[in-house]
Amino acid sequence: MRIAVLNRDRCQPKKCDYLCIKFCPKVRTGDEAIVIGEKGKPEISEILCAGCGICVNKCPFDAIHIVNLPEELESGIVHRYGKNGFSLYGLPVPKRNRVVGLLGPNGIGKSTCLRILSGELKPNFGEERELEWDEIIKRFAGSELQEYFRRIANREIRVSVKPQYVDAIPKFYSGEVRELLERVDERGLLSELAEDLQLRKILDRELKHLSGGELQRVAIAATLMKEADFYFFDEITPYLDIYQRINATNVIREYTKNSSSLVVE
Ligand code: SF4
Ligand code: SF4
Repeated sequence: MRIAVLNRDRCQPKKCDYLCIKFCPKVRTGDEAIVIGEKGKPEISEILCAGCGICVNKCPFDAIHIVNLPEELESGIVHRYGKNGFSLYGLPVPKRNRVVGLLGPNGIGKSTCLRILSGELKPNFGEERELEWDEIIKRFAGSELQEYFRRIANREIRVSVKPQYVDAIPKFYSGEVRELLERVDERGLLSELAEDLQLRKILDRELKHLSGGELQRVAIAATLMKEADFYFFDEITPYLDIYQRINATNVIREYTKNSSSLVVE
């Protein structure tokens, strides 16, 4: 079965005049395969869409793609972003005293995995409603993730998350690097991490004046400075050169020895 799937973040209906809907052959013959839905964005009917791909070619913002959807995959959904939205199948299991890496191209759901495992996003298993934690825990029965989510639900797990887009940091925090790091340094690691991540020279610099690579290293340090059972890193390589990448990997391994970490790339 082939159907069109919408990437809501890319879709900009105010700028395109709904070309996807206008050119859909099913719509032209009276079937509502793609209609204007919630918040003015298109909604694609899994039943009526023929997967012809015309809307994919017409969309100027690359907001639709075609997926092959075998029937059996319907049963393994962990999370779906609304009707016709992206679906995630499966989750990695964070391991104690291990660094787990999650690698792959953009758009396969790595950040969604991270948001779910950090407790920021509740998995909905493809249902169009928010599930209670009890229900979520039951759905993971028989897997290692059941105990993990029980602890997340009961707030027995502390997590520390490095966000993906480090260039947004100066929009949320002002002041100098040292001030930010001192504020989050629950583990008393400022001195060591400033040394290990080559931050000493920029400690007294304003966050808004940092380069992308400097912001990336500050974000990694800030994440590691928090007391947590699980450390999540949503991409550590952007803006870093090859030596800095290797160093950042070693630093993460070193400072999460007695906990767990998941790195998404
Ligand atoms: S894939 Fe074809 S049938 Fe489906 S919504 Fe797009 S244009 Fe319409
Ligand atoms: S999917 Fe593309 S063509 Fe359709 S409304 Fe969104 S931006 Fe416009």
